[in-house]
Amino acid sequence: MTAPVRACTICGKPQAQRFKPFCSARCADVDLNRWLKGGYVIAGRADEAEDGPSGEGEDKG
Ligand SMILES: [Zn+2]
Repeated sequence: MTAPVRACTICGKPQAQRFKPFCSARCADVDLNRWLKGGYVIAGRADEAEDGPSGEGEDKG
């Protein structure tokens, strides 16, 4: 049984132990740049119980 070598998320080469999940510092950098450029536009979650009472109504038998 061989340990599966995962592919670098940037270029697809085998990941390097010390740069996981990338193959090199370079790819890690690429990923970081992606984040800085526009990565932090995280899709807002659907309004999750934004207004309304906090679930107090049903009585547990
Ligand atoms: Zn890579």
